[in-house]
Amino acid sequence: MPSFVNPEKCDGCKALDKTACQYACPNDLMVLNKDSMKAYNQEPDQCWECQCCVKICPPQAMDVRGYADFVPMGASVVPLRSSDSIMWTITFRSGQVKRFKFPIRTTVEGKAEPAGGWDTKANLDDFTLFTEPASTGLEAICAPGTKTWKK
Ligand code: SF4
Ligand code: SF4
Repeated sequence: MPSFVNPEKCDGCKALDKTACQYACPNDLMVLNKDSMKAYNQEPDQCWECQCCVKICPPQAMDVRGYADFVPMGASVVPLRSSDSIMWTITFRSGQVKRFKFPIRTTVEGKAEPAGGWDTKANLDDFTLFTEPASTGLEAICAPGTKTWKK
């Protein structure tokens, strides 16, 4: 289900050149109505529910209705970010509330190492997957159906 904006909470990001939801949406779906200073999703069919806009919206004015496999009985799912964690508040239709807090990546913007610092010289003829065997904690990986090991 696509994202939607609660107009009672949206403050138009206080008339910045680009709103936070516009900045965050990888699909360029969010638009600001300059008359009402409220944002909206201009093409809900194209929304892939990535929740980037929901997570970045400062006054928590955005939401995404979760699919049945995610919240089977229906619920509101609202994230709240801090500098080192994200808290998800789940409000079920019965009124029951559950909160889950997880640490988040704290790498300074623009400082993330591509490929996480792993050697990117991949050999496509090799049976090992990228970062193997080091990332598995094993000394070597055995090719499927053989006795060929690679360190
Ligand atoms: Fe409104 Fe939130 Fe979008 Fe800012 S980020 S324009 S407050 S919906
Ligand atoms: Fe864009 Fe993702 Fe928000 Fe949909 S959920 S409007 S794709 S940022």
